Amino acid sequence: MFDNLTSRLSGVIKTLRGETRLTESNIQDALREIRLALLEADVALPVVKDFIASIKEKAIGHEVMSSLTPGQALVGVVYQELIAIMGGDKSDLNLATVPPAVILMAGLQGAGKTTSSGKLAKWIMEHKKKKVLLVSCDIYRPAAIHQLELLAQQTGADFFPVKDGQKPGEIGAAALDFARRHHHEVMIVDTAGRLGIDEAMMQEISELEALLKPIETLFVVDAMQGQDAVNTAKAFSDALPLTGVILTKLDGDARGGAALSVKHITGKPIKFAGVAEKLTGLEIFHPDRMASRILGMGDVLGLIEEAQRNADQEEAEKLMKKMKSGKSFDLNDFKAQFQQMHKMGGMSALMDKLPTQFSQAAQNVKVDDKIIHRTVGIINSMTQQERTKPEILKASRKRRIAAGAGVTVQEVNRLLAQFEQAQKMMKMMNKGGISKMMRGLKG
Ligand code: GDP
Repeated sequence: MFDNLTSRLSGVIKTLRGETRLTESNIQDALREIRLALLEADVALPVVKDFIASIKEKAIGHEVMSSLTPGQALVGVVYQELIAIMGGDKSDLNLATVPPAVILMAGLQGAGKTTSSGKLAKWIMEHKKKKVLLVSCDIYRPAAIHQLELLAQQTGADFFPVKDGQKPGEIGAAALDFARRHHHEVMIVDTAGRLGIDEAMMQEISELEALLKPIETLFVVDAMQGQDAVNTAKAFSDALPLTGVILTKLDGDARGGAALSVKHITGKPIKFAGVAEKLTGLEIFHPDRMASRILGMGDVLGLIEEAQRNADQEEAEKLMKKMKSGKSFDLNDFKAQFQQMHKMGGMSALMDKLPTQFSQAAQNVKVDDKIIHRTVGIINSMTQQERTKPEILKASRKRRIAAGAGVTVQEVNRLLAQFEQAQKMMKMMNKGGISKMMRGLKG
């Protein structure tokens, strides 16, 4: 997948040499190559345009870190944009509602709806430990109903028996009642697909959606569809309040355009990827893993990460030196510390990296990444003088700062108290080293 993009980008890395900054002119050829490669990979044209525009915006003026070549730096920008266009972070399945949590599966015939329904049932039972009911509303293809019944047997999920002559709406209502009576926590509803977009099909699934009020309406799309996937995705997302996407057949020789286009077109994240025909072949979709697979340059990405780590390290060392030099610790330094934390992926990412015994203990400490943003926002609203001498802040200025940062005055006060605490610690570190600081903490 994306072989051309990989080879074209490798070429780009080689041509961009010796520049210390990425500029409009030195990245021009590279952007042309990326654009071609994306079009060859069957990424939709509007998506390609937006993608290139945003790479340009991020890359121009981008300083090249000393340990990287300009080409590698550009690959770093492309990598970040690939992740962003696929939705950024992974996106969890939402089951938080009064049971049964209904998941409605939508998509064209052959996209992999029925198979994905079975896989999803298995995934939910294993990972969420919930009791699942599988329901088929595909009355036009008895074979599809039977296929789902077999999948239910194989996964151990329950199957809702359909009576002859029942309409999709009647099946939905009866299944909902059945799920409530039998205490199913999740109900996955497979629907009829057509070979192409068809008004009767859209009408039917819209009615089902209104009746079942699903917490998740997942659009199932075949990764091999490329450009066509975009039109289908658009039609489904116009007709239904989609909550996410399942991208199937990623194990095939898809050119991959759908993976890059579908989030952009529907505005909804890819939640799962189908990676094999068998029932275990469903995975949470990770935009970052997909981006590195698309780029196919594990070695270069490793280098970029390493350079970033080194740059972070240098910044941290600068901060330490400043503190050691006896210069007082002010709100600018405090802000730098928070930004440092943010760069390292925020508190939640740090917690994830802790060994289990620590992360379990840390679970009780609720640290919100928003706090990092808010702290930086508050400090940004202060003047330089206020940052070095916060004691001059009067109530009226605090109110102005709070309004500027979109927070309450209490939050400003809380931050100032935290800062004072940190400042005290820094002073102690400077005067008497760690042992005195520990004593200070105990006292
Ligand atoms: P539906 O018409 O949307 O319900 O599609 P099906 O679930 O019947 O799937 C159509 C075909 O695609 C079947 O042969 C499936 O085995 C196959 N399929 C579905 N998902 C995947 C996948 O992730 N990988 C592969 N290799 N095949 C898949």
